[in-house]
Amino acid sequence: MKQTRATKQKAILEEELKNKKTFFSAEEFHVSIKKKHPKIGIATIYRFLSEQVKQNTLHSYTCNRRALFSLQNKTHAHFYCENCHTEKHIEIKNLDFLQEEIPGKICHFQIDIKGICKKCQKD
Ligand SMILES: [Zn+2]
Ligand SMILES: [Zn+2]
Ligand SMILES: [Zn+2]
Repeated sequence: MKQTRATKQKAILEEELKNKKTFFSAEEFHVSIKKKHPKIGIATIYRFLSEQVKQNTLHSYTCNRRALFSLQNKTHAHFYCENCHTEKHIEIKNLDFLQEEIPGKICHFQIDIKGICKKCQKD
């Protein structure tokens, strides 16, 4: 079977994706691809990543108004201080409190919590 350029590119991207252990953006993914394959453009990367999200191999989150991706269906949670505008990543390990409310099975989720941080409460 003759390989088309598209299938070759896809194999390259799939290989690179396997090495991703943490959250990453499309731009970061592009930077690491570009080192080895300068011809692969950002548009191809966007297309590839959104395909993976559709197929459920990749999970997408929003962080600082940017899309982030992860192979693991981890949670992504922020605590945003409305006073000093700092954003912290927090970890929520247990989904049991949510599961009862959800009419289905949870894949991954994102939570944005807003409030006043400890530092601002003291001032
Ligand atoms: Zn998911
Ligand atoms: Zn984040
Ligand atoms: Zn604060």
